[in-house]
Amino acid sequence: MTPDEFAAKVLPAIEAACQSNCLCAEPGFRKLLSFDFDDYGTGPVALADSEIVGDAIVLRRFKLVGKVEDPPIGFALRRYECPQCGAVCVAQFDEYSISMNRTVFRFESPGKAAESGLYLVGFRGFKREDFAKVTDFERTESQEEFLRSLGVV
Ligand SMILES: [Zn+2]
Repeated sequence: MTPDEFAAKVLPAIEAACQSNCLCAEPGFRKLLSFDFDDYGTGPVALADSEIVGDAIVLRRFKLVGKVEDPPIGFALRRYECPQCGAVCVAQFDEYSISMNRTVFRFESPGKAAESGLYLVGFRGFKREDFAKVTDFERTESQEEFLRSLGVV
């Protein structure tokens, strides 16, 4: 699935779910948003599914409550708060080149992330062989299965 297809077909269901009851406490939702290549000892890798969902939900729906003043070049840290449950999520943006950046979303409020996650779109980065080192995220072809994994029913 391409990022555009994801945004058109899958994202609306996630946004609708957040409208009625936020997903902050869902372990699968936290797992997806927390994807961080630093956990795998690879070069920079971004997970498109994580970034599209984090952008739509955290960056656009949550309230900005703080940021790191005067951050180093190519780096930004911002704190957001869920308008429904008050959960705090920190978004960390890093830029590695003109065409490569990533954002990680870490919830600070109590709650657990799932052990493993699913994706529909997949990874981007400098080296394809880095993608294989990510062993706790698996591709699925099923939108329903993906949505279920996030706690969207
Ligand atoms: Zn919430």
